[in-house]
Amino acid sequence: MPDDAGSTSHDRKGVVLVVRVSGFFGQNFHTPPVSIASAPGRVNLIGEHTDYNDGFVLPMGIGLRTCVAMGPSGDGRWHFASEHQPETIVFERTAVGDTARRDWTSYIRGVIAGFLAAGHEVEPVCVAVAGDVPVGSGLSSSAALEVASASALEAMLGVAFDPMEKALLCQKAEHEFAGVPCGLMDQVACVFGDSDSSRAGWKPAPPAARPAEPGGAILLDCRTLEVRRIPIDPAWVLVIDSGIGHAHSGGEYAARRLECEQAVESLQADGFPVKALRDATPVMLEAIRGDDLLYRRARHVVTENARTLEAAALFESTAPDRLTRLGQLMNESHASLRDDFEVSTPELDRLVEMACAQPGIHGARMTGGGFGGCVVALVEPGKAQATGRAIVEVSPGAKVRFSC
Ligand code: ADP
Ligand code: MG
Repeated sequence: MPDDAGSTSHDRKGVVLVVRVSGFFGQNFHTPPVSIASAPGRVNLIGEHTDYNDGFVLPMGIGLRTCVAMGPSGDGRWHFASEHQPETIVFERTAVGDTARRDWTSYIRGVIAGFLAAGHEVEPVCVAVAGDVPVGSGLSSSAALEVASASALEAMLGVAFDPMEKALLCQKAEHEFAGVPCGLMDQVACVFGDSDSSRAGWKPAPPAARPAEPGGAILLDCRTLEVRRIPIDPAWVLVIDSGIGHAHSGGEYAARRLECEQAVESLQADGFPVKALRDATPVMLEAIRGDDLLYRRARHVVTENARTLEAAALFESTAPDRLTRLGQLMNESHASLRDDFEVSTPELDRLVEMACAQPGIHGARMTGGGFGGCVVALVEPGKAQATGRAIVEVSPGAKVRFSC
């Protein structure tokens, strides 16, 4: 099994990562860091393209993490280094808040701007980033980077944000600094979906900055921001990366958001009291059947919300055959994303088909925004590693990213 494939030996991996980021910090800045924190990547089990429609999502934190080390720079400038980037980037004192300059530091600079806006005094720092969340694969390396940066800042300054406020601050950073109009799911998943107690380093974040009960999946109501912890055995989950990077900030994502807004406007014009597609019902959708594209986009969102709520209830239940129904829901989610929302690709479709053909797999779907990225499968406990291996062996470029 590839090294990055599992959440097993969490604690050892967490410690290794802390040592690695600390060494990387020292190598770049010739002094030890003052604070270290990390955050997990996430996989969305079900509830895709529902977040910006005020709907429901069901993500979970995974065993791949991004780790951020920080310390005062002492020279009035901001320094950023990442294992994933060829060189250190330096900003003059006030230039750190430049939203027009877009690069990988935008995600961290946006978080720093959020702390400043909240009234915290942040003096220029050195920042080093290490980790194993694959970048641009749909496992939310961007939110992991934001959340780990926010946690490292909290630890350094001795302050603690409410966890949901922290997620919102990180989302704002991605909107305003990275220019990505993302929903809130990724940041919430990276804050609340944590399963590794070793994420804080020598100067751990104050207890209030931590999720109340780390671990597992969460059902997020994207309208009320209510978070419900959902018990999920990580051994049920297999994540396979197609090896094809997605482009979230690309036109297709923006186009889908716009189409959803247009569907809402159409429903409103027909007299329905809907604020977002979350309020629409299958019966209402009949009114916009004449516009096939908007109808299909809206139908995906409406049916996906229903699937997500059913899935959360099933995960919480003790029904003996619940994995079978959960698998069906995942398959239906994929078909809807492929046919109605049109965000899948032939590679993702093929991986899903192959996964579903394996013994011990209950269901599979593309996960994340689409146009590349990963597939998530629901698997019989104990079968994930063998199944993942069987699939990637015959899928050039594919890689198992998470399996217990
Ligand atoms: P995803 O969140 O699905 O991995 P995004 O396109 O949203 O993909 O975010 C990827 C971007 O986030 C990268 O292009 C880079 O700018 C930034 N990023 C994420 N993790 C790191 C990292 N460890 N080091 C440097 N930049 C990172
Ligand atoms: Mg992202």
